[in-house]
Amino acid sequence: LIQLYIPLNFLGVLYREIRQALTDIERMFGLMGTHREVADAPDARALARGPASVRFDQVRFAYEPSRQILHDVDFAIPAGKTVAVVGHSGSGKSTLARLLFRFYDVQGGAVRINDQDIRGLTQDSLRAAIGIVPQDTVLFNDTLFYNIQYGRPDASKEEVEAAASAAQLDDFIARLPDGWNTRVGERGLKLSGGEKQRVAIARTLLKNPDILIFDEATSALDSKTEKAIQAQLEAAARGRTTLVIAHRLSTVMNADEIIVLDQGRILERGGHGELLAKAGAYAQMWALQQEEREAEEEAA
Ligand code: ATP
Repeated sequence: LIQLYIPLNFLGVLYREIRQALTDIERMFGLMGTHREVADAPDARALARGPASVRFDQVRFAYEPSRQILHDVDFAIPAGKTVAVVGHSGSGKSTLARLLFRFYDVQGGAVRINDQDIRGLTQDSLRAAIGIVPQDTVLFNDTLFYNIQYGRPDASKEEVEAAASAAQLDDFIARLPDGWNTRVGERGLKLSGGEKQRVAIARTLLKNPDILIFDEATSALDSKTEKAIQAQLEAAARGRTTLVIAHRLSTVMNADEIIVLDQGRILERGGHGELLAKAGAYAQMWALQQEEREAEEEAA
């Protein structure tokens, strides 16, 4: 019986490992909301690497024909600049990121990079040029080193270490008894929201994309972590064309342009000071967040 038990036990372990790997992949795609397959056009061209300008050109989009999500959304991110999108939950912010990554095709208008409609580009070249720091980073059930190197699997040990250092993870790693070999994820060390986001930033720095999408975590962060993430975001965005999907207005203050989205339409746009002076929707959101912050600080 024991002879039978050992191989069966081994199969059980193998089964769990495979199931875990599948769960990670499913979660990753679930996160991005992928459903429909988009195909490369027969004459699709590769996007050349280098400074990239992004343009949402009168974009119209619906997941289901009966419910329009984006109505003629029009804005541009000049190469190397940062545009932040704010708005209520469900206003369509994450949908913009999904369209730029071409998980879906637009139904009207176009998304363009360097004046090329992304439907005419190969998906591989498009996705290689874009790095995403998602809201909730998927950690693989593996070592911390593997989880960061995942951003570019052929990166050297030195490159992985440099990326971790740029994302300010080195102190954290140095304090772990197993250091880089610490297992993280489902069955390993559970990282905090801020630590996970730093792993995501390190991965993205390793990928070195021309375009960065930063989908800010909705979860509440203490103001110290929030400041640290803000600094890391700015470091990661330097020299890249960046789209920030923002939930906290403190992270958008320094954006080159802020877009206020309301039910799939651009309601206001401009710089932080300009929008405050307008005393409209953005100014109202700002006042509300300031009140919440003060209440939090009083309670602390
Ligand atoms: P939040 O701040 O809560 O993340 P958001 O502004 O990013 O919200 P989106 O995720 O872009 O909002 O969603 C916009 C609208 O599209 C929502 O009403 C949502 O219910 C709907 N939606 C999102 N994904 C799908 C989908 N895969 N199928 C159908 N409808 C969807």
